Amino acid sequence: MSEHVLEITGLRAGVAGREILKGVDLTVRSGEVHAIMGPNGSGKSTLSHVIMGHPGYEVLGGTVTLDGLDILALTASERAQAGLFLAMQYPTEVPGVAVVDVLEAAFVAAGRNPTEVPERLRAEATRIGFDDRFLHRAMNVDLSGGEKKRNETLQLGVLQPAIAILDEIDSGLDLDALRACARRIEAATEETGLGVVAITHYNRLLHELRADYVHVLANGVIQRRGGPELALELETTGYSEFTAARGEASPS
Ligand code: ADP
Ligand code: MG
Repeated sequence: MSEHVLEITGLRAGVAGREILKGVDLTVRSGEVHAIMGPNGSGKSTLSHVIMGHPGYEVLGGTVTLDGLDILALTASERAQAGLFLAMQYPTEVPGVAVVDVLEAAFVAAGRNPTEVPERLRAEATRIGFDDRFLHRAMNVDLSGGEKKRNETLQLGVLQPAIAILDEIDSGLDLDALRACARRIEAATEETGLGVVAITHYNRLLHELRADYVHVLANGVIQRRGGPELALELETTGYSEFTAARGEASPS
């Protein structure tokens, strides 16, 4: 198992001239789980999009490196090949392309043997209780919100990235599916040394996917850091402490 480190320093980014991230620092090492919590509109999804090179977000300052490699200089697919994985808050529907096709292409791009993919997929599907018949259906088309999230977990299990950024992987999942996905990801932190950035509103994700560190992102900066106890505290206090008098955006 190799050791990896994702290092974000002073990251500033925005859209259309508006600064959304105002200097974010975060270091994630192999095997660690970092929860990012915070009010709606605080920049959590922007952070995940910028790390993965989503077009439309402008980097205004700071650095993001993976094992010392400047990932901001890479295309989105090069970032994936370097070992980053993003589970988006709203997974994209890709008509006509099945998950098996996407993963085989990713294996080829990374110089891995694509003939391993179907077997790995079946094994992963069994592991998280995902019906085999979804494997050959078009990516995310006509899948429920929860099925899309399980689909993301499935891909993560097959790809075995170094670092995964999970944007609200728990939204829309019923409790059983949530437990299955969270358990699978937690297992990856032990089996393959996966490092995780888990963006979530709810401590319940962290019952199975145990956070080593909890960070509160509000108004584009990390305002507080702590251990798992911080997630528990936020569950009772909410985010009013971080939104008061700051004019935080309404739900987005
Ligand atoms: P969160 O995920 O924490 O709810 P986001 O990162 O989605 O927050 O959004 C942070 C702020 O940036 C919000 O005010 C949102 O409206 C704005 N924003 C994010 N992405 C875009 C975009 N592509 N175009 C315009 N505004 C955006
Ligand atoms: Mg979001």
